[in-house]
Amino acid sequence: MFFGWFFTRIPLVILPRISIRSLDLVNHPNPPEINESLILQILRIRRAYWASIPFGLIPLVLGVIMLNQSPSSVGFGLIVGSSWVILSRIVPFDLDPMFRFPYSMNLIHELNRIRVESFPCCSSSNPFWALDSVRCSSCHHILLDYPRPDLGRSRIDGWLWGSLRVMILDGHSLSESNMPKNSEEE
Ligand SMILES: [Zn+2]
Repeated sequence: MFFGWFFTRIPLVILPRISIRSLDLVNHPNPPEINESLILQILRIRRAYWASIPFGLIPLVLGVIMLNQSPSSVGFGLIVGSSWVILSRIVPFDLDPMFRFPYSMNLIHELNRIRVESFPCCSSSNPFWALDSVRCSSCHHILLDYPRPDLGRSRIDGWLWGSLRVMILDGHSLSESNMPKNSEEE
């Protein structure tokens, strides 16, 4: 079961980090600027995230074959582990389209809008993605209330722990969105 789970989560950890053309992003714990490289990187991770489904079919099929040969707990575990991850990919997290899946297309559109448009607060600003939201670099005004997910950069916590963290959190951010605070401001 662990193998099935492990195997389906591998693409998210490995794929964004082995790229032919590495993008110009700041190193791991620093907040990245909202620029073209960041958006390209998110598109890349989005592909890796969804690659879990075809990847997950491998242990699933393997498990089905094993169970067909003889009833075995390993085969059963493979099916449960991989179908769990596949289901967690398909079932939406939230009703809001932006939060429905990590790395949603809506999120990418929003980031691109922030990149292109001028900002409501300051005349010149380099918006950056802090842990909890996208903020203006000059006045720290929240431009997009969306916690920063894993961006596929090599992590400061080391290869092993970094990968484990990404696997367990499945690309989600540790910090919560500060939505309620934001609606008070409006
Ligand atoms: Zn500002």
